[in-house]
Amino acid sequence: MSPTSSAAVSVPARVVAEELVPGDVPLWAHPEWMRDLPWLVQGTTGRGDGDEAFDLGLSGIQPVGAALDRWRRLRAYTGARTVAHSRQVHRAEVWTHAERGAPGILVMDGYDGHATSLDGLLLAVGVADCVPVSIVDPVRRAVSLVHSGWRGTAAGIVERGIAILRGTYGSAPADLRLHCGPAICGRCYEVGPEVHAGVRPGEPPPSAPTCIDLRQAIAERAAAVGVSPESVTVSAHCTRCGPGAFFSHRAGSHARQMGVLGIR
Ligand SMILES: [Zn+2]
Repeated sequence: MSPTSSAAVSVPARVVAEELVPGDVPLWAHPEWMRDLPWLVQGTTGRGDGDEAFDLGLSGIQPVGAALDRWRRLRAYTGARTVAHSRQVHRAEVWTHAERGAPGILVMDGYDGHATSLDGLLLAVGVADCVPVSIVDPVRRAVSLVHSGWRGTAAGIVERGIAILRGTYGSAPADLRLHCGPAICGRCYEVGPEVHAGVRPGEPPPSAPTCIDLRQAIAERAAAVGVSPESVTVSAHCTRCGPGAFFSHRAGSHARQMGVLGIR
């Protein structure tokens, strides 16, 4: 039994605006985490302001070689030995990285989330409206990063990431910090009853298409499994109605930004 029902935790999650870190890769990072957790590499890549958008998508319409050049720039910029990514399938499988792997870019298949306690390994999930959710244990120095669209959220991928931190690294949920990065906001994301029913199974869904705030729902689901609401933040950035710093699937983009998380 969960000590707290999701319905009991309905306070709006605290909003934080990621800041663009100066450098030759467009990386938007959580300013409080930059200050408090200097051992962490974290953030979400953006479109960038160059002539060529910083598209890291490997399954879109751009040549893969162009995307891989940007992946190499990202790896060099963050100083990671290995960058781990997977083709995502909107499910709730999370891979636990127990080995650093060979130097370079690792592209797996079928995982929407990653976890590790190893340094030098940068985790990356592709998004363009879906939510990149970063979960950090500052005590045990372990991290999990998941791609949480509505299907993944409904399938429990955020809870799965938290469970792996508990089971594999001994993390206490009360120690965790969780951030929902740039994604589509609650005013832009109009969806059918099946989405509401999947994301908030404890509540009666609306009968017609209605907007949902996916990041708020994720914050509530994290609180329901013991993450302290004070340790949960959501991004101020909307990929859809923001000023264009990020790619948006609903706005017609085929490009992808990456949520990234790792230990230096
Ligand atoms: Zn919006």
